Amino acid sequence: MATNEIVRMQEDLERALAKAAGSRSWVMVIDIRKCVGDHACAVSCMAENVCPPGTSYRKVFDAENNEYPNADHFFMPANCQHCDNPPCARAANKVARGAVEKHPDGIVVFDYKTMARHPKAAAAAKKACPYYAIVEDKGGYYTEATPRLEPYETRVFFENGEKLTRKNTRGAVRKCTFCVHRLDAGMLPACVTTCIGRAMYFGDANDPRSLVSEILRQEKTWQMKSSLGTKPRVFYIGYANRFEIAAATAAACVECHE
Ligand code: SF4
Ligand code: SF4
Repeated sequence: MATNEIVRMQEDLERALAKAAGSRSWVMVIDIRKCVGDHACAVSCMAENVCPPGTSYRKVFDAENNEYPNADHFFMPANCQHCDNPPCARAANKVARGAVEKHPDGIVVFDYKTMARHPKAAAAAKKACPYYAIVEDKGGYYTEATPRLEPYETRVFFENGEKLTRKNTRGAVRKCTFCVHRLDAGMLPACVTTCIGRAMYFGDANDPRSLVSEILRQEKTWQMKSSLGTKPRVFYIGYANRFEIAAATAAACVECHE
């Protein structure tokens, strides 16, 4: 039952948080077969992370393949893959050491302060990411043409232990953090708890009792662009033979190139 999956992942999370960070291994599993393409995950992500207009840490690719009568249409959600061999970190840290950090639990985060001092590091990270997972915060507000900016755009939010407002992130490159601020507070990532189709799973792959470990043992999973050697921490279920399509269709290009 869907509700039980969330409850179980919450229990998995609590068990994981009781361990040292280096003993955890956060992974995300996305079951494409269950994704209904409603974008609720992306909307909750934008709200959680106070993203500016035109950006989202999370995209739901609307992919098409073949023509009638063999037409194939599916949805493929994607965000930062939290690669274990992250090209963004290699590129950015070459310019400014510490611009991109890899946490012991697997999460890849950007250091906004270092990147603000070294814009070339930010540009290098964005250019290096093969998943188009990095967005630019060019400023602006959804409600800037109205009599006042709405509080949901000016509110304080948290990323990687930092207390921020949109004033701090203007000009920064940004991306999914697996909602590390929520994990720290004992909550699952926003997209996981919002998913209408119950297509999203999250947890500690080092815990054999966790739901994600069980899924990884039982299901045939694949990783996006795995041939690049990036070692993504996001695993997909379903449509394994079509996994390059979402990065190749015109619809997908529009999603990435805002
Ligand atoms: S998906 Fe892109 S931004 Fe995320 S860790 Fe991998 S290279 Fe870096
Ligand atoms: S909320 Fe779930 S079902 Fe809806 S688009 Fe996102 S991943 Fe797919």
